[in-house]
Amino acid sequence: MCEISVLGIFVADISFSGPKIPAIGETILGNKYNIGPGGKGCNQAIAIARLGGKVSFISKIGKDNYGDLALITLKKNKISSSNIIQDENSQTGVAGILVDQNSGKNAINVITGAPSSLTINELDNHIDTIKKSKIFLTQLEVPKEVIIHCLKTAKENGCITILNPAPASEISKEFYKYIDFFTPNETEAEFYTGIKITNDKDAKQAADKILNLGIKKVVITLGEKGLFYSDGKEQIYLKASAVKAIDTTGAGDAFNGALAFALSQKKTVEECLRFANRVGGLSTTKQGAGDAMPWSKDLF
Ligand code: ADP
Repeated sequence: MCEISVLGIFVADISFSGPKIPAIGETILGNKYNIGPGGKGCNQAIAIARLGGKVSFISKIGKDNYGDLALITLKKNKISSSNIIQDENSQTGVAGILVDQNSGKNAINVITGAPSSLTINELDNHIDTIKKSKIFLTQLEVPKEVIIHCLKTAKENGCITILNPAPASEISKEFYKYIDFFTPNETEAEFYTGIKITNDKDAKQAADKILNLGIKKVVITLGEKGLFYSDGKEQIYLKASAVKAIDTTGAGDAFNGALAFALSQKKTVEECLRFANRVGGLSTTKQGAGDAMPWSKDLF
């Protein structure tokens, strides 16, 4: 039995590293490019597998070269492909990523491709995987009706659910009651609350606003500043680990994967957050997204 199921997308990340992120209309000379695995769902599944978790990845890809990259990536990371829907009429997704080599910051354009046509009917062939999991983790990169169907099923079957609301977009009120952990980054938290987060006080205010929507626990990830957690009673603020970040792409994915893994190990919330904070930080010390997810041996 898999302990954690992740619903989400795979995309081939095509990333360009250079002295800055070009402004509109500007051309710059960069110095490195890479094509590697990405997509929030796939990155999160890789993070869990590399930390030693038993994970199932549910997704849809095309039958093309990037689809082959998806299958090779899963195999390399010992993640079963039995929950991957391959559709010869769809393209596998791609993402164009521009990375500033000095700060590791990025700007991303994702074409999700095949998963944008994922239906509840297709998903229902894999729903037992979710029903049998302890933890269900997803993001906002597949159609909303599929996400809510899975969150609802997961909750009805006693799973702990984590929604990483990325990229931020409107969700209906019905979502909130099916979410245990809501894990926006600063920008996403601002989208859902209208509060720009510049300090701990703003983070608390934003977290309170999110809890008032009916969500049980909120973790706002604050990049190089760490994280803020609240469940309405307990509040935890953790500083980020001191690392030399070279590429922050996928830090949130490493964080969410690690949070899911730690929760499956029955650790306290604070222990889970400390662990995820460390794994998120470590992921920024390597180039890429899926390929930069830390292994459990990197933690010692
Ligand atoms: P996202 O990648 O979704 O934008 P964040 O940038 O908030 O998410 O990063 C997620 C987590 O990764 C942070 O809460 C922190 O634990 C870790 N992290 C991110 N950037 C850094 C950094 N520069 N130094 C140390 N830790 C980092």
